[in-house]
Amino acid sequence: MTTFIWSIDDAGSGEPLVESMRRTCAHFDTHGLASTWFTIPKPQGSPLSPAWRDELARQIEAGHDLQLHGLTHADCYEFGPPAWPATAIQPAMQPTFDERRAELMPRYTVEKLQARIAEGMAIFQEELGVTPTAFRAPCGAISKPLFTALHNLGLRYHSVMYISGSGYQHLPHNSGSLAQVWVDAIPHRPFVWYEGVIEAPILNEYTWRGAGARSAEFIDLARQDVARIAAESPIAVLLMHTHGIADDYTHAFRLIDAVVEAVAERGGRFATFAEVIRSGELAAAATVRGPDLPAV
Ligand SMILES: [Zn+2]
Repeated sequence: MTTFIWSIDDAGSGEPLVESMRRTCAHFDTHGLASTWFTIPKPQGSPLSPAWRDELARQIEAGHDLQLHGLTHADCYEFGPPAWPATAIQPAMQPTFDERRAELMPRYTVEKLQARIAEGMAIFQEELGVTPTAFRAPCGAISKPLFTALHNLGLRYHSVMYISGSGYQHLPHNSGSLAQVWVDAIPHRPFVWYEGVIEAPILNEYTWRGAGARSAEFIDLARQDVARIAAESPIAVLLMHTHGIADDYTHAFRLIDAVVEAVAERGGRFATFAEVIRSGELAAAATVRGPDLPAV
């Protein structure tokens, strides 16, 4: 039996997107499904707005889960150099990093990264009364010192590596093929990584901007992915973004309905990151070690 975690990134950022969290949680609630929102504690370097703080507090009360998504998310290089598949979403990401390399590389020390995470944790505690137990680096940009910083702060769970990037192939600069393609570079199940931090890899995303134009194909891809991961891992992480959902609510909610149905057909269930961490289910699922990947 596989437990599916529905994770949504970038909560806390952009006033119009408060609506995205409100409507999506309301839709999850119709399925009795609790979701995990990777939330930016100090978006673009500013405090959480009252509207976001109120919405986040309301959804915690309703049983949804908040986890930490960087500190400011002011750019895509907060915790490490650019990583795939973010580089396939924004082709300028790597060249821009290369131009700014001398300025950006000094960020990646244990001391500096730990201070950023600690500031985010303090904001979560003060503003929302939440102690995060999992971390997701913005844009998947990671470095080895990040894992030492997480370990030092008692954050033992991380979720950033992708099993599949097929969900971004509809973008104009990519292949256009929504065929199921999975990477072999990482295990398809949770794994033990640097400093003993447990990585819960992301299966795929089906609601990035523009996906609604090929809604039926994305739903088909999601069904194929759910069927395959149910045979390969006891835990699977699904990904959406607040802005991707808001790009086409009709598609996003159809996709959620189809995935809920596909999970039920496989005898699976849904849980939040907080739940699978608290129960020990995520730690128990990490029976393999991860490969040595980040260059920094
Ligand atoms: Zn993000």
